[in-house]
Amino acid sequence: MTTHPPGHPATARAVIIGGGIVGCSTAFHLAKLGWRDVVLLERAKLTSGSTFHAAGLVGQLRSNANITQLLKYSVELYDKLEEETGQATGWKMNGGLRLACNEERWTEVRRQATTARSFGLEMELLSAKEAQDLWPLMDVSDVVGAAFLPTDGQVNPSDVTLALAKGARKGGVRIIEDCPVEAIHVRDGRVAGVRTAHGEIACEIVVNCAGQWAREVGTLAGVNVPLIAVQHQYMVTEAIDGIERTLPTLRDPDRLIYFKEEVGGLVMGGYEPNPIPWAQDGIPEGFAFSLLDPDWDHFEQLMTQALARVPAFEHVGVKELINGPESFTPDGNFILGEAPEAKGAYVGAGFNAYGIAGGGGAGKALAEWIVGGEPPMDLWPVDIRRFGRPHRSIDWVRKRSLELYGKHYTMAWPHEEHASGRPERVSPLYGALKAAGACFGEKLGWERPNWFARNGEDAKDVYSYGRQNWFAAVGEEHRAAREAAALFDQSSFAKFLMVGPDAAAALTWICANDIDRPVGSLVYTQMLDSSGGIQCDLTVARLREDAFYIVTGTGFATHDFSWIERNIPDGLRAELVDVTSAFATLSLMGPRARDILSQITPDDVSNEAFPFAKWREIAIGGAIVRALRITYVGELGWELHVPTEHALSVYQRLLAAGKEHGLANAGYRAIESLRLEKGYRAWGSDIGPDHSPPEAGLGWAVKLKTNLPFLGREALMAQKAEPLRKRLACFTLDDPNVVLLGRETIYRNGERVGWLTSAGWGYTVETNIGYGYVRNGAGIDDAYLYDGDYELEVATERVPCRIQRGALYDPKMQKVKI
Ligand SMILES: Cc1cc2nc3c(=O)[nH]c(=O)nc-3n(C[C@H](O)[C@H](O)[C@H](O)COP(=O)(O)OP(=O)(O)OC[C@H]3O[C@@H](n4cnc5c(N)ncnc54)[C@H](O)[C@@H]3O)c2cc1C
Repeated sequence: MTTHPPGHPATARAVIIGGGIVGCSTAFHLAKLGWRDVVLLERAKLTSGSTFHAAGLVGQLRSNANITQLLKYSVELYDKLEEETGQATGWKMNGGLRLACNEERWTEVRRQATTARSFGLEMELLSAKEAQDLWPLMDVSDVVGAAFLPTDGQVNPSDVTLALAKGARKGGVRIIEDCPVEAIHVRDGRVAGVRTAHGEIACEIVVNCAGQWAREVGTLAGVNVPLIAVQHQYMVTEAIDGIERTLPTLRDPDRLIYFKEEVGGLVMGGYEPNPIPWAQDGIPEGFAFSLLDPDWDHFEQLMTQALARVPAFEHVGVKELINGPESFTPDGNFILGEAPEAKGAYVGAGFNAYGIAGGGGAGKALAEWIVGGEPPMDLWPVDIRRFGRPHRSIDWVRKRSLELYGKHYTMAWPHEEHASGRPERVSPLYGALKAAGACFGEKLGWERPNWFARNGEDAKDVYSYGRQNWFAAVGEEHRAAREAAALFDQSSFAKFLMVGPDAAAALTWICANDIDRPVGSLVYTQMLDSSGGIQCDLTVARLREDAFYIVTGTGFATHDFSWIERNIPDGLRAELVDVTSAFATLSLMGPRARDILSQITPDDVSNEAFPFAKWREIAIGGAIVRALRITYVGELGWELHVPTEHALSVYQRLLAAGKEHGLANAGYRAIESLRLEKGYRAWGSDIGPDHSPPEAGLGWAVKLKTNLPFLGREALMAQKAEPLRKRLACFTLDDPNVVLLGRETIYRNGERVGWLTSAGWGYTVETNIGYGYVRNGAGIDDAYLYDGDYELEVATERVPCRIQRGALYDPKMQKVKI
């Protein structure tokens, strides 16, 4: 029998690994939720990882509403934590300044101010002089303007972490230091316990909050945590005359640097474009409360920028240059949630140098996720299930994470694509599409054509906040789809097979729509969680009595697979298999699609033989193609799922037959414009776990009228008894000089009621289109929705817009409703 040292339990409800800010915050919030039997294990001492050497800036605004809410919650928490725990935190709400030094950056900052307003944060715009009044030591000769977020602040990272630990202990959490976790036991796909240096602890939940060690710790449970350690430096000066304790934090993104007050002096750090990865062969044993050697040569580039901003630096003594490693991820967002690889294996790591700002809210969200078994809200941007195959390769992860580190402060351009680690996954058409002028974007490692350069054009995005260089080319692709036909390579779609005698029963439980229809049927459906939120949005084709083919978006491969697999009711005989790589997908869309297809297949593709929402096997040359009659662009069309080895020949046949019908290659930017006109929702922006089908206008795709039980049904029934409090609506704005990008604030009769979830230009209806939820606590009926006067705030300016009923474009009616 194993004996445990005093204080080391044999069992626990949950074991948290890591005593940095994230582990301590998770422990604190689990205790708040009433979980007492929680153990936090720290291999060395609390705060001894990245936390002890953080600069401590606490900013709040992110590009996603819920992640901003998490950071906002951190501020609320830090504001009262000292009072609650008796442990000082060094929290100061001095506000945060952000400078803009050129017109494009000023546009970005003004758009951020609107985003902040959309998300309920007040961000003021200041002139250069007003900014200087708040931060007198800076030179503002190049400053165009600034934004000020009065509720941003700074904190002492170690103290706030110790306060969270104290609060957690008070709530019953046991914290054990000098106790490394050496193994995580997983049995039958679920966590069973951990082995520490001092013995075994049986538990069903492990929370990996191991910071830059999280990747290593993840592998103990077979869980991939894609992050790398990168050196990050900041300088601490001696006291400077004129620096007040109340000085706001300052971010100067055009110079890639940030500042905060510390003991009458300044802390200055930044994000250099050529970051240095650390510990590529593993983090050295015994690395605790440790720093790396200062690298003045590397820091010089930031120092030069800082001198230009704060000339007083020239004569100021430097106390020290801190060089600390921190974890960075391939998309700049942190990693949260239950891992798809093992039930009960949770992760909270990869904080990209904003773990102090994020720690409070992330710990709360993670605790709620653990207790509730589902994310407490839509946390998709940070959800561990957003990763996929390329993220298994540490080389790929390193390249992309370093690129993102270098872009921490650079302009976040609309439609921006990243360059590193490409190409990684390509469809069989890649070479042909490249030769045809494709400008590719990347998703989950896949190269996907965004648009096609026309004769003489460079297949390269030129970014700006105005209309970008691809605007006209995408217009042509859009019109081809509306007026003739367009061919889209959608091979990156995730594709699954659900097979087994109980496959229909399992999917009947998981799907909100009725999928138990005859072989040959194709059903568009959502999959809901127990609150009625939309977890997946996909199509299900019945191949046989006991086999279904499921197609979903490229980026949702891991998430949707995991959602479906985990929700197969116990005891049902159904297996889910990922068949993504077996099929290339060519989507042939447009009024001439049938003319083209009938020329290259002997099979009957008439409306009678092959109606909408059906799938058929058809022959094209030597290929047996699974043709799905469905559309995301609002035109007659087929998704042709072609065995990969036949993809190129089918593509060539389509192109040859399509020539006389005006068939054009088209890309994802055209799809976006087409689907906006037709009112099709996009998961991850218009719809997601925060929205139910009735709120999203998708009630028609739910089988509530049947008696069939399904996941989420009860929540929808309960929702039916109450008025809806938010509804997705379509807005148009005619001025072509305004560019809608999403996140613009919606005003109804002068009051803020929501923000745009997605937006773009509709080339057929020739107007800006935006979708967004209109919210009203007292309920929303048609009268409320359609009777208001609406405006959109775009880059802080209000512009009148119109609310529209239904889709703007309908090919059957051949009419445009505006
Ligand atoms: C120079 C620098 C400046 C920064 N400035 C800021 C800032 O201004 N604002 C901001 O918000 N963020 C900032 N950060 C980022 C911030 O420090 C981190 O994001 C944050 O501390 C991460 O906290 P964590 O709990 O995830 O990780 P950590 O603090 O690293 O904690 C992880 C813990 O896990 C423990 N552990 C690892 N393996 C095991 C194991 N097997 N068993 C048990 N325990 C284990 C480690 O010992 C460690 O204590 C900065 C970072 C650096 C490097």
